[in-house]
Amino acid sequence: ENEDLKLLLLENISQEAVKALRLQGFQVDHSTKAMSEDELVQKIGSYHAIGIRSKTKITERVIKAASKLLVVGCFCIGTNQVDLLTAANSGIPVFNSPFSNSRSVAELVISEIIALSRQYFQRAFEMRQGIWNKQSKSCWEIRGKTLGIVGYGHIGSQLSVLAEAFGMRVLFYDVINIMPLGSARQVESLSALLAESDFVTLHVPELPETMNMISTEQLAEMKKGAYLINNARGKVVDIPALINALQSGHLAGAAVDVYPAEPGSNGAPFDDQLNSWSSTLRTLPNVILRHILEAQRMIGEEVSSALIRYLNYGSTIGAVNFPEVDLRAITLEQPDHIRICYVHNNIPGVLRQVNEVLSPYNVEKQYSDSRGDIAYLMADIADVSPADINKLRELISKTSANILTRLL
Ligand code: NAD
Repeated sequence: ENEDLKLLLLENISQEAVKALRLQGFQVDHSTKAMSEDELVQKIGSYHAIGIRSKTKITERVIKAASKLLVVGCFCIGTNQVDLLTAANSGIPVFNSPFSNSRSVAELVISEIIALSRQYFQRAFEMRQGIWNKQSKSCWEIRGKTLGIVGYGHIGSQLSVLAEAFGMRVLFYDVINIMPLGSARQVESLSALLAESDFVTLHVPELPETMNMISTEQLAEMKKGAYLINNARGKVVDIPALINALQSGHLAGAAVDVYPAEPGSNGAPFDDQLNSWSSTLRTLPNVILRHILEAQRMIGEEVSSALIRYLNYGSTIGAVNFPEVDLRAITLEQPDHIRICYVHNNIPGVLRQVNEVLSPYNVEKQYSDSRGDIAYLMADIADVSPADINKLRELISKTSANILTRLL
């Protein structure tokens, strides 16, 4: 029963998620703070699920102490705060929120492209100072301009579609070959993209190869009067080099959303103590400086529904460390039907053992998949009595490869 399942949500996960999980009958403890490894080791033993963001680390030590833990939800994009392999080997799938803010970043980039090409922020600032400046020099529509997208993943490809709808010509550069959407075109090198684009926008992850990927040399390769937009990661752009390119007039402007060092909390100063060039960057009128709020509500919905689907139906679709298995859930609503969720070591002979146990029953559906050393089998069985349920649980969990057996 769901009332017996205890969930711990840390790091101020959105209220939508808390509500959705309580609505399912789970007991939810909610905290605004992260927990240290020692605190977690002490407390995690009584919980069946945990929801975290990026500050709480689920280490091997924590997982070993988590005797009842069934599932981890990362209410963010990244999952490297969790020891994914140890979790998988302990039968614990980990879910995250890979797409929830892709679209919101893509939309913001469109707004930045328009704002830059119309000098929107300079004019708005002048009006607030009481200056009427009906200027149209170097202001243009974005239709017909070339957008160069560096990194054609979730965000880059969404942006490609939106930009084409605005009549832009889209080029992209990526380290892998990707089928272009619409009329976009993949180019062979970063240099080729920089030389042709009126706007260059970055959507690559932070990796050793992407550190200072845009520095003096690359900025010089950009067209005179072009714009640079960085919504990826702060360290991808060498900001002192960007400041030089803006001050010399080679670039017409830039939008910067992420910084090498970022303040730890809202309201904390964004100044030269944090990034030595901050005061210079802040005085440049043709630069948009902001930081977007993560789409926490969307993330809350996406990850809480993944947790609900796993706890109620065993579905691991979207798990980052686990074989993805699901069955349509219609039969579960009927009495005398059960679903067996069997996580086991991926070794030969296991399915024969399990199917021997299941052979006297009417197996309506069955599906199994593996990923590395872990395999996951789901089977829906009809016409089972309460006595059968206990027997099945016992026999399956006694199989030699068993990691976790749940009957739903
Ligand atoms: P993704 O993994 O879907 O796509 C990244 C793409 O970059 C992939 O296609 C990959 O092949 C490509 N790539 C990797 N290294 C490259 C290189 N050296 N040169 C060219 N291409 C390279 O990621 P995504 O979800 O589109 O996110 C992109 C970036 O945006 C990430 O750094 C992410 O952290 C960041 N992000 C920022 C915000 C924000 O609030 N500003 C929000 C979400 C994501």
